Amino acid sequence: MDKNQDQSSSRQVKKIVIVGGGSSGWMTACLLNARLNSDAKNPIKISLIEAPDIPVIGVGEATVPSIRRTLQAIGISEQDFMRGADATFKSLIRFENWNAGEHFDHPFDRRERPQTDAAALSWLAGSKGGGNSFSTKFSVLSNTSSRMLAPKAIGWPEYQSTFPYAYHLDAVKLGQLLTRFGTERGIEHILARIEKVEMTEAGDIAALISESGEQFTADLFIDCTGFSAHLAGQTMAETRDYSKHLLCDRAVTLSIPYDVYRPDHILPYTSANARSAGWLWDINLQSRRSLGYVHSSSHISAEAAETEMRRHEGPHTEGLEAKHIRFKTYKRIKSWHRNCIAIGLSDGFVEPLESTGLYMMQFAAQSVADILRLNPVFTPATTSQFNRLMQSLFDEIFGYVALHYLTSNRRDSIFWRDATDPSRVPDGLKFLMGEWKGRPPHDMDLLSTHRLFSLESYEYLLFGMGYVSDCAAQSQSAHFSLQETLDKCYAKLPLHENWLAKTLAQ
Ligand SMILES: Cc1cc2nc3c(=O)[nH]c(=O)nc-3n(C[C@H](O)[C@H](O)[C@H](O)COP(=O)(O)OP(=O)(O)OC[C@H]3O[C@@H](n4cnc5c(N)ncnc54)[C@H](O)[C@@H]3O)c2cc1C
Repeated sequence: MDKNQDQSSSRQVKKIVIVGGGSSGWMTACLLNARLNSDAKNPIKISLIEAPDIPVIGVGEATVPSIRRTLQAIGISEQDFMRGADATFKSLIRFENWNAGEHFDHPFDRRERPQTDAAALSWLAGSKGGGNSFSTKFSVLSNTSSRMLAPKAIGWPEYQSTFPYAYHLDAVKLGQLLTRFGTERGIEHILARIEKVEMTEAGDIAALISESGEQFTADLFIDCTGFSAHLAGQTMAETRDYSKHLLCDRAVTLSIPYDVYRPDHILPYTSANARSAGWLWDINLQSRRSLGYVHSSSHISAEAAETEMRRHEGPHTEGLEAKHIRFKTYKRIKSWHRNCIAIGLSDGFVEPLESTGLYMMQFAAQSVADILRLNPVFTPATTSQFNRLMQSLFDEIFGYVALHYLTSNRRDSIFWRDATDPSRVPDGLKFLMGEWKGRPPHDMDLLSTHRLFSLESYEYLLFGMGYVSDCAAQSQSAHFSLQETLDKCYAKLPLHENWLAKTLAQ
C-alpha cells in the first residue's frame, strides 16, 4: 500500500454527513446516533442532507425479525413505531403458485430443539412432492398464521414474544417518524440537493456542493441516495451485475385503502404469489393493503403487468393509481472506499422476494456503528473487512433468492422457462443444488459466519418446493409433535386485527 494513501485514508471520525433521506438514510443516522453518541463525552456530529425534490422510493414494506433489534437499539418504542409507521406483524412469507400444488411457507420460527436431522429425514421418508406439510409439522407460526393469529399476545412486553416476528410497514411514514425522532435527538437535517462531489487527488471526498452553492465537509460521507448513488457512483463506481441470474427488473404497485376494499382479515404474513412473468406481493398494513407485481421487462410490458395485477385483484382496483418502479440486481464491488460508504440501494439490491433490502441496510449501519465504537479511526484494513462482510451477506441473500426460481417446476410461460434454465444457476449454488436433490440441506453447507438464513430457511424452501426428491437415507424413528405448543398458542394468541385494534388504539 502506498504510504500517502494509507495516511490520507486513515482518519478519526468527528463528523459524519449522510446524503439521502429514505429508509437507509434515516435508519443509518438514527442507529449511528444512538450507538455512537448516547453515552459519549465527545459526540460525533451527524448531519443528514436530503433533496426536497427527489422522492424516496417509497417501497420496502416487509421486514425480517432483526428489525426489532434495530428499532430497540435506536431507542424507539414498539407502540410509537407501530402507530407511526402503520405497522402490522409479519410471521412468515407464504409462497403461492411457485410449484404445482399447494402453497408453502417460510416462517421465522425454527424447529423445536433438540434439533437433529432426524426431523428432516423422517419427514422426507413420508412425504415428497412439496407443499406446506413440512412447515405445518415443524413451525408454530405456520399454523398460527393460517388461523390469522398475531405472533404475540396482548400485554406481552415490547419487542418480545416466544416466537421471532417482523413487521409490515409504510416506508414513507417510517421515514417521517425517524425524521422527527432523529432531529429531536440532535441529528442535523438539511434540505439541499447535492450537485457536485469534490474529490482530493488521493481519491477522498473533499466536499459536497449543493445546487445553491453551499459546501459540506466531513470526515466520513455516507451515500444513501438510492439507485442514483450520487456519491458512490463517483468514488467507487465499479459494480457487478447479477441480472443474468435474477430476471425481474421492474415492479408495478398499487395501494388499496381499507375504505375502498376491506379483506376479511389483516394477514399476519407477506403473500408472494407467482404470476406469469414474476410474482405479486400482498402486504397488509393497518389502514391499507399494498400490492406489487415484481416482473421481468423482457417478458412482459409494464402495461400488461399492471393489467394482470388488476385482473388478479378484482374490480375494486379501478380508479386507483398504479406506480411503476425500475430496479437492478447489482452489487457495488466496494461498499466502503476511503471516506465514502454506500448503504442501501446505492450499494446494491436483490429483488424483494425475501424482504432483505432493509436488512442489508441495517446490517451495514450496525457494522459501521460497531467499527467506529471500537475505534473511531478507520484505516484501509477496516474498509476491506467491511467490504468482505457486505459481499458475503449479498452473496448469501442473492443465492437464497435465486433458489426460489431455480427449484420451481413451473414451465408454463417463457418467463418460467427462462428463469428455471440451468444456465442461470450461479457458480456458488451448482454443487449444492446437485447435493440437495439427494439429501436434505445441512449446517455444513452454509459457510458464511454472518448468516441471515438459517438451516431451517433452506429446509422450508427446498422441501416446500419438493426439490429433495431422490433421498435414499433411512427414515429415523423419531416422534415430533407441536400439538401441545399449538394448543397453548391457540388459547393465548389473539386474531392479528384484534391485537392491533386493542394495543394500538389511542
Ligand atoms: C420494488 C421494490 C420493493 C421493495 N420491497 C422491499 C421489502 O419488502 N422489504 C425490504 O426490506 N426492502 C424492500 N425494498 C428495498 C427498499 O425499498 C430499500 O432498501 C429502502 O427503501 C432504502 O432505500 P434508500 O433509502 O436506499 O433509497 P431511497 O428511498 O431511494 O432514498 C433516496 C434518498 O436520497 C435522496 N437523494 C437522492 N439524490 C440526492 C442528491 N443528489 N442530493 C441529496 N439527496 C439526494 C432522495 O431525496 C431520497 O431521500 C424494495 C425495493 C424495491 C425496488
